[in-house]
Amino acid sequence: MSGFTKSPWIIHYDASSCNGCDIEVLACLTPIFDVERLGVVNTGNPKHADIFLVTGAVNEQSRDVIRNIYNQMPEPKVVVAVGTCAASGGIFRECYNISGGVDSVIPVDVYVPGCAARPEAIVDGVVQGLGVLEQKRLEMKAAPQNTDQILYLRAEKSDAPGILGLQKTAGQCEAEIYNDDNLPALQQTLEELQNDFDRATHIKAVMNDKIIGSVRGQARDGTAYVSGVVVHPYYQRHKIGRRLVAEIEKAFPNAKRFEAFTGRPNVRGLQLLGQAGYSEFKTEPFTPAIAWVYLQKERK
Ligand code: SF4
Repeated sequence: MSGFTKSPWIIHYDASSCNGCDIEVLACLTPIFDVERLGVVNTGNPKHADIFLVTGAVNEQSRDVIRNIYNQMPEPKVVVAVGTCAASGGIFRECYNISGGVDSVIPVDVYVPGCAARPEAIVDGVVQGLGVLEQKRLEMKAAPQNTDQILYLRAEKSDAPGILGLQKTAGQCEAEIYNDDNLPALQQTLEELQNDFDRATHIKAVMNDKIIGSVRGQARDGTAYVSGVVVHPYYQRHKIGRRLVAEIEKAFPNAKRFEAFTGRPNVRGLQLLGQAGYSEFKTEPFTPAIAWVYLQKERK
């Protein structure tokens, strides 16, 4: 962990815990474990935090708060789900107001087991989080230099968990742009995405065995419908989205026409498709603040 220039700062949020795990988080700060002596600071400001420690399952009231805290944290950041409830919903899983574990809302990097999670396990989870944080920091630094090493390949059903994780990571930025946490990409389940592989072709952009971008396409009556262009936030602004669009178009050699859609006010999505030669032909309202914009182009 030589790359660290400061000790990790943590923000803790109780999503709907029974308080059992929260007491153990507090125990980490009291004299027996005293993680502050190692420089770990429990901050109340997401803008200062590196690690997001969440206890309890996600319910209707906490889901927006979790996204809000996560979106305010600077990159790179790590999420540690503490306890069985944060991992899966735990004993509250079947409750009417529980949507599941923390990963039903934001990507989770480390899971700390236990009901309640023991302080030793929480400290261990934070240390694991430090490793992930450093890895992300290195990736973020190297991303702009290594884009020529990216492979563009046909994705298989077994890639669905990686693509879903990417959708959730990149989707947080989209949710901020649209000021809406209910975008379809954020709501999609693993099963729905796996089933989509039976209908559509998926292309993935891979760097160091990690999926950093994806797009899907489906052909009907001579038209290839292109959607779901996603690029990991570290790799955005390096023309990877454009290359993904070009690759999915190649996957449909018999298509005479291509159709794609994105949302307004997502200026970047519109720019990307405009640069790929698409032009607007239809808009449809989705919510009062968001409109779906449909674009098309003929094969040359
Ligand atoms: S994992 Fe156990 S102790 Fe922790 S919040 Fe859930 S029920 Fe409470």
